[in-house]
Amino acid sequence: MRNSVLNQIENVVNRYGERIAIRTASDQINYRSLWQQSDNLAAWLGLRLKENNKPVMVYGHKSPQMIVCFLACVKSGRAYCPVDISMPRTRIEEIASSVGNQIILAAEPLELEGYEVIGPDMLENIMAEEHDLSYVTPVSGDDVYYMIFTSGSTGKPKGVEITERNLRGFLNWSKELAQKTGMEHIAFLNQAPFSFDLSVMDLYTSMTTGGTLVCLDKKLQSDMGEMFLFMKENSINCWVSTPSFAEMCMSDKNFNHQLLENMKLFLFCGEKLTKETACKLYERFPESKIINTYGPTESTVAVTSVEIDRKILQEKELLPIGKPKAGTDLFIKDGEILIAGDTLAKGYYNNPQKTAESFIEIEDITGQKIRAYKTGDKGYFDGEYFYCTGRKDFQIKLHGYRIELGDIEQNLMGFPEIEQAVVLPKTDGEKIKCLVAFVKKEGEEVNAKSIKSALKEKLPAYMVPKNIKFIDNMPMTANGKIDRKKLEAEFT
Ligand code: AMP
Repeated sequence: MRNSVLNQIENVVNRYGERIAIRTASDQINYRSLWQQSDNLAAWLGLRLKENNKPVMVYGHKSPQMIVCFLACVKSGRAYCPVDISMPRTRIEEIASSVGNQIILAAEPLELEGYEVIGPDMLENIMAEEHDLSYVTPVSGDDVYYMIFTSGSTGKPKGVEITERNLRGFLNWSKELAQKTGMEHIAFLNQAPFSFDLSVMDLYTSMTTGGTLVCLDKKLQSDMGEMFLFMKENSINCWVSTPSFAEMCMSDKNFNHQLLENMKLFLFCGEKLTKETACKLYERFPESKIINTYGPTESTVAVTSVEIDRKILQEKELLPIGKPKAGTDLFIKDGEILIAGDTLAKGYYNNPQKTAESFIEIEDITGQKIRAYKTGDKGYFDGEYFYCTGRKDFQIKLHGYRIELGDIEQNLMGFPEIEQAVVLPKTDGEKIKCLVAFVKKEGEEVNAKSIKSALKEKLPAYMVPKNIKFIDNMPMTANGKIDRKKLEAEFT
């Protein structure tokens, strides 16, 4: 198909073959090799998997090999499902079983019983060897292109299915945003792991515009000095992260325009951008632009944007999330933001019930029936911009990570020693600082430490509550529900 995502990348390959496509602290790959290696692996997948068109789990972290695997899967006609090394074993097993494919591509070492894991060494060999590509047909149109798992309130993650058409709809717009850097060669910052859909903004906008993706791996992110040096050496000019990450960088006074002289544009998504963060950032980077974008994984990364200029900062108490991109409509229904348009996911993988609950049919202003996604976000429209004011449910964002509190509660209650559990966010002003779990235990053997370490086996580290408080009885409301407000009062 002309202008498919793969075609767009191929055009870049033809034009800028020798340009570095992906750079990490220890490795890099140019567009020509990225294309060739993914062709080789795609052909191998086609021969090896034959009629099996199920999505393929791709495990790893920030490496060129990981991206080669993504492209290979879609070139071979299969969706990929990225899983980062930060996932604990139980989650990896759950996702692998939910994806349901025997073959797993692993750019980092992984042992998983019951699956055929193609590890880094074997991948390297396959990628180096030419195979016949004529047997594969790439993913296109309404085929699923990637699948990202997000926290689910029942304690099991849900796979969001994004099609090739969805991704194209998103890229038509994200490329326009990136053009605001005014640069011909954009060096994009990649902060988010590839299993978080924010990374799609930097990865694919970069690969379809001939940019260089500058990836911060886990090790670099744990050493601010080294990380800043790496950003500087690679002259990043387009920043893509959650506001939390920029706030963390700003805790170091060296993070400013003298360090990153070429910084043109900050693109934020994933959580609330506060006025305070935007103001502080302008003090550090007076010449850069700041854009706030908003959207859920279920609608392909982001669907609204607004440039947070000085006028908005002066006039608005709450920063807007902006206006919808072309191809998207936003509706406010009973105070909730609903999204319709070309980037709406196909649904949740193998989960028709959850899909039907969240993707509904509504009438647009002309009375025509259209499909819309219920975001669960509370919001309003002031005649010019949309605003997001919080959640209707128990989903939260902690340091940019999407978490269903019910996911943690269900996993806690899965331990036989725990009878009841409620998890609450502890805030400091507008920001959620950490999570606190209130636990009613059954035995005497458990303590906070043992619970935390058991939970770490099941959930990513960012979902493990910092504090565990034991209580004898959960406070109840008049209508028999757990009184979360009363529990909250315990730590305020
Ligand atoms: P995720 O699927 O991880 O991208 O999380 C989506 C959720 O993050 C949204 O439904 C919102 O609750 C929140 N979110 C994303 N972007 C913004 C933003 N710019 N301002 C406020 N909340 C946001």
